[in-house]
Amino acid sequence: MIDDVTDRTGPSPITSDELAGELRPLLATGLIAFDVDGVLAPIVDHADDARLGDGVEALLSRLAAQACVAVVSGRSLRSLRELFALPERVHVIGSHGLESGDAAPLRLDAAEERTLAELAALGAVAVLTAGEGAWLERKPASVVLHTRLADPELGRSATEQLLEASARVPGAHVKPGHSVVELLARSTTKGHALLTLADNLGRRPIAFLGDDITDEEAFAMLGHDDVTVRVGGGESCARFRIADPAAVTALLHKLVAPA
Ligand SMILES: [Mg+2]
Repeated sequence: MIDDVTDRTGPSPITSDELAGELRPLLATGLIAFDVDGVLAPIVDHADDARLGDGVEALLSRLAAQACVAVVSGRSLRSLRELFALPERVHVIGSHGLESGDAAPLRLDAAEERTLAELAALGAVAVLTAGEGAWLERKPASVVLHTRLADPELGRSATEQLLEASARVPGAHVKPGHSVVELLARSTTKGHALLTLADNLGRRPIAFLGDDITDEEAFAMLGHDDVTVRVGGGESCARFRIADPAAVTALLHKLVAPA
């Protein structure tokens, strides 16, 4: 049974079947957007080992043939293209909105380049502090400290030190995540990216499914007519909650099936 969607205690649990019913009216004029990791691709220990769930590539391709579909990820465009076989018709937004497959490549100005270099140096120190299992990902406008495979205590203290040090770097922006912390040389949110994409495409309303802390920024920016869905547990300001990436795959099956 679905709870009252105005309930302020959190998102209403919803099945894949019920969510397909919510999203079907959006196929004609809306934008259906997904975060990738933890939504279309099960979470894995090392980000480079992530792959789309079984059948997801074909399902996305079929969905994109009948609707406007986007993925909005914190990953760089390069990582998205290298790891995931995303169908050509799917609009791809990377780096939390700083990179778009539909736009010119991202270029930092001189001040942003300096900020990024300082952040990379701090990140390298943090990897040493966090020890074995920790690693630093470099993206066009950010660096990301990954501590999922590090000793939890060392990972935590490295993260704390990194946050403290980066707060003194002019122009630095921070995005915390699950066992990751990202330091950016330019501010961005997935919500802004989604709204801009929807404007450019002339599509409304927007549906967005995400599982990250950064996805909450998008949920908060979307309006009453939009459909926001948190995948998995954790506090959220989304309207609905579904269980896991397998439930998202089930949703895709329902959406592409004849009504
Ligand atoms: Mg995610």
